[in-house]
Amino acid sequence: MTKAIAPRSRKVRILATLGPASNTPEMIGRLFEAGADAFRINMSHGDQASKVPVIEAIRAMEKIYDRPTTILADLQGPKLRVGRFAEGKVLLEVGKRFVLDRDPTPGDANRVELPHREIFVAIARDARLLLDDGKLVLRVTDHDDEQIVTVVEVGGWLSNSKGLNVPDVVLPMAALTEKDVSDLAFAVEQKVDWIALSFVQRPEDLAEARKLIGGKTALLAKIEKPSAVARLEEIVEACDGVMVARGDLGVELPPQSVPPLQKRIVETSRRLGRPVIVATQMLESMITAPTPTRAEVSDVATAVYDGADAIMLSAESAAGDWPVESVAMMDAIANAVERDPMHGDRVHFTVLKPDPTTADALAEAAKNIAVTASASAIICFTLSGSTARRIARERPGVPILVLTPKKETARRLGLLWGVHAVVTRDVASFEEMVAKAKRMALRNHIAKGGDRVVVCAGVPFGMPGSTNVLHVTQIIGDELKNYPGER
Ligand code: PGA
Ligand code: MN
Repeated sequence: MTKAIAPRSRKVRILATLGPASNTPEMIGRLFEAGADAFRINMSHGDQASKVPVIEAIRAMEKIYDRPTTILADLQGPKLRVGRFAEGKVLLEVGKRFVLDRDPTPGDANRVELPHREIFVAIARDARLLLDDGKLVLRVTDHDDEQIVTVVEVGGWLSNSKGLNVPDVVLPMAALTEKDVSDLAFAVEQKVDWIALSFVQRPEDLAEARKLIGGKTALLAKIEKPSAVARLEEIVEACDGVMVARGDLGVELPPQSVPPLQKRIVETSRRLGRPVIVATQMLESMITAPTPTRAEVSDVATAVYDGADAIMLSAESAAGDWPVESVAMMDAIANAVERDPMHGDRVHFTVLKPDPTTADALAEAAKNIAVTASASAIICFTLSGSTARRIARERPGVPILVLTPKKETARRLGLLWGVHAVVTRDVASFEEMVAKAKRMALRNHIAKGGDRVVVCAGVPFGMPGSTNVLHVTQIIGDELKNYPGER
C-alpha cells in the first residue's frame, strides 16, 4: 500500500541530515512528511555498517510514498576531529589545562585523543585550536610528538568526535583520506545519489573523487576552505553540485566574511548551472528549543530569496530535540518567502550564462514561454537529467515536472530547485510524449484541466543529450479516463 502525500508546491528543497535523533524508519517518514526532500548521511559519525539500515529505511519509505528520494553521503574529508570521551562529553573550563594526545583511551576533562599525527608535527606554541565549529578555543602552551598541551581560552561542552580547526598553522592535507576512499566505495555500492567531498581545495581533488566514483553518483563540492574560494569558478565547473559549508568556512575565515561569500558561491553556482545548498546553523537554536530565533528565520529566508536550490539542517535534524519541528519550520519559512510577490524578482537578480547550445537555448525559451503564455508547468522528458538541470537553472515561476525512465536520474534531481521528478515508462513517439506529459501533469497535481503546459524533450527518443523540441499544449481534463494507474 502506498501512502499519499499532499503535492509540494515549494521550489527550494530541504535537505535533512540524519543521525541518532532521526535514524529510524518512523522518524525518516515523519521528516519526509514534514517537508524533507533529501537526506544527508554524514560519514563522519558512526561506521559503515550503521548506515546500511538507514539507507534501507529511506529506500523503503520511497516505496511507501511512491516518491523518488535523494540520499547524499557526505564524506568526512581531511577534517580534523578529536577522539571520544568515556562519558560522551566533558565540560572544559576557562583557564584549565587540557591535553590532546595519541592515546586512543576514551578521554576525560583532562585529556582526549587527537587521531591526526600530522598536527603533532606541524603545531606551534601559541597556535589556537578551534573546537566544534569554533565554539571552544584552546591555546597551545607546549607540544611534542606525543601530546599537545593547551590552556582553555573559551570553554564549554565538548562531545565525541567534534571538529577541530587549526587556522594559525598550515597543515599538509590530502584531498581524500583512507577513510574517505573506503566510505566512497561503500556509498557507491549502496547506490546513494550524491557524494559530497569535504574541504575541497583544488579542482584536482574533485577529479580524483570522480575517477573513483566512475559516474555512478553525482559529486558535490563543499566549499569550506579559503583555498576553494580562491579557485571557486574552476571548482564549481568541476562538480555537479555545491554546498556553502558555512560551519567550517566561518572558522577557517572570520565569520563576517561568510555572508558575502555565501552570496558569491550561490551566484556562481547558479550562473554555471550547478545546484547549490546553503548549509549549517540555519536553525541552530532548534537543537534544544522548539522555536528558532528571528535571526535564524531571517537567515533561512535569505537563502531562499537568493535562489539557492536547497537549504540544509545539520544537528537540528540529526541530533537535536526537535528534528520534525525543525524541518516543519524550514518548510514554513520557505513557503512564506515563495509566496511573497517580491520573491520572483529577487531570485532573478542573478544573471545566468547559458552555454551557446540548443539545450540551453530551449531551457531559457521554455521559461519565457511559460511566462508569456501563462503556462502552469514546464514538463520535461530526460534520461540523464541534464535538461532538467538547465530548466531549473532558469528558475521558472512554474513547477518543473520531470519525467524519466531512470530511477537514478529522478533521485539525483531531488536537490534541484522546483523539480518534481517522476519515474515513467519511456515514450516512443511525439504524440505519445505530449499525451503522456498531460496525463502526468494531472496525475501529479501539477496542472489541471484547461491549463496550458510547455513540454520539452529530445527527438529521437531514448538518446541522451538531444533536447531539441519545445511544444506548448493545453490540457483538456479527461486525459486520465482511459489510463487508470499508468506509470
Ligand atoms: P560538516 O560540513 O557539517 O560536515 O562540517 C558543513 C559545514 O562545514 O558547514
Ligand atoms: Mn564542514
